[in-house]
Amino acid sequence: MENEVVQPTLTDGFHLVVDALKLNGLDTMYGVVGIPVTDLARLAQSEGIRYIGFRNEQSAGHAAAIAGYLTQKPGICLTVSAPGFLNGMVALANATTNGYPMIQISGSSDRAIVDLQQGDYEELDQMNAAKPFTKASFRVERPEDIGIGVARAIRAAVSGRPGGVYLDLPAAVLSATVDAQVGADSLIQVVDPAPRRIPSQESISRAIDLLQQAKKPLIVLGKGAAYSQADAEVRKLIESTGIPFLPMSMAKGLLPDGHVQSAASARSLVLAEADVVLLIGARLNWLLGHGKSPQWSASAKFIQIDIEPTEMDSNRKITAPIVGDIYSSVSALLADPELSKVQAEESWVAEIAARKEHNATRMAAQLAAEPAPMNFSSALSAVRDVLEKHPDTYLVNEGANSLDFARNIIDMSSPRRRLDTGTWGVMGIGMGYAIAAAVVSGKPVVAIEGDSAFGFSGMDIETICRYNLPVITVILNNGGIYHGDEASHGSPSDVAPTRLMQNARYEMVIEAFGGVGYSAKDKKELTQALTAALAAGKPALINCQIDPKAGTESGHIKNLNPKSALTAKS
Ligand code: ADP
Ligand code: MG
Repeated sequence: MENEVVQPTLTDGFHLVVDALKLNGLDTMYGVVGIPVTDLARLAQSEGIRYIGFRNEQSAGHAAAIAGYLTQKPGICLTVSAPGFLNGMVALANATTNGYPMIQISGSSDRAIVDLQQGDYEELDQMNAAKPFTKASFRVERPEDIGIGVARAIRAAVSGRPGGVYLDLPAAVLSATVDAQVGADSLIQVVDPAPRRIPSQESISRAIDLLQQAKKPLIVLGKGAAYSQADAEVRKLIESTGIPFLPMSMAKGLLPDGHVQSAASARSLVLAEADVVLLIGARLNWLLGHGKSPQWSASAKFIQIDIEPTEMDSNRKITAPIVGDIYSSVSALLADPELSKVQAEESWVAEIAARKEHNATRMAAQLAAEPAPMNFSSALSAVRDVLEKHPDTYLVNEGANSLDFARNIIDMSSPRRRLDTGTWGVMGIGMGYAIAAAVVSGKPVVAIEGDSAFGFSGMDIETICRYNLPVITVILNNGGIYHGDEASHGSPSDVAPTRLMQNARYEMVIEAFGGVGYSAKDKKELTQALTAALAAGKPALINCQIDPKAGTESGHIKNLNPKSALTAKS
């Protein structure tokens, strides 16, 4: 017995990744398995991490990204090497663009062969390929570095302006073994991953000075404000100053759309007339006309609260920049006794109220109409009336006309319930966002989709059914991109480029997987279907038959759609 050697207990790369994620409270993974990460997903599941398997990495990535937005923890997406990695990259780039914290963890092929371009199975230098699309891109070369790799990825994803991070794990690192104690000691539980950024008092005073001079102040709330979860502070700032506010689309519901100070339905008036504008977590990008005329007054002055210092002056001069996190910045404004002198003038409030009423009357007439077949506003008026009774529902929204109409027609009353195509206007977020919203919240989700938009992620209806998630997909089906009635441009065999299948039976897609399909040709049928589906809380799909003539090309952003001066026919 004296010759017995005590064997060290071993761990390996697979275990260290799972242990590092668990140690940092990352309890869900969205992905597609295959070489070399299949065992990683199995192990994660056996260790209590929820693994949600998708049909395409792009959807898995979108799910991870929006989970990050909803929880302030990086959403984890797992992909296989090269093609799977690249499929996830659209979502990772979209996360970076939108400021969603996300980590894409991907397996990769043999480093020695990849770097000499000797033609490995799924050969690609993934870490370098990811760089332009991410906030940070790391590769782990030794199992004992996995803890540090995960810690750095978490910090990069959630600190400052959140974004997408890539973490490369070569197959050899996943299977490599190391002494279990050495492995355990190498893991890091990240302390204070998203440190507050306290604004300077000078920047707070400068901003309040400007607000005191304002005759027509306006507060613009962006999705950064929604993300920061400083809901009570933002509301207090708005209500104590009486300043009208305009929510960007994903900030809808941060304060209820029905709030008296909401200027959402007087948008063009407030943009044109405001003389001092306070941006809270919103960028002056294309979605806000770059802050310039004609949408905005040339003499308007801007205050901007943002955690990213280089955002200031990116499109227009920012007279009073406040560089800080939204919670700290809004709290500092509230704590300053000078703020009590800021009060929106009654004439400005009245001017906005008059415009709101005028626009509301016009919209009410549109919504009350019952055209046969349905158009976008009649169908969405039915959806709106049902959702008003279910204010906790998450709303996912993509398409062109489906997006524009739903954003304007469907009011939100709770924060972070509206999830849409965001800064890029990306199509394909639908099923991924819906799945993650349901997984994260356990609440019902209604995804309002154009028929074209649905096609980008439609196969993940199977994922929704496999996990039995309370997701109801509503397809506004007009048989085409923008509209479905365009004639072919002289082709004897093919339909026009904007056309999709006419009268497609999308409700049958979900029936293939055991979900409930509905077809609705009028408001009454749509109301009944949505009411029943919400009551059931099970996977459902409602195919709304919309007039193929309904819908306009490029929806509300026609100005961005170039036309040939030489050949344009339509
Ligand atoms: P929207 O499209 O709704 O206008 P954007 O995505 O353009 O919103 O802008 C969000 C902004 O919010 C980004 O500039 C980002 O840096 C900022 N941001 C995100 N989180 C925070 C935070 N916690 N504190 C301060 N700013 C933040
Ligand atoms: Mg369509």
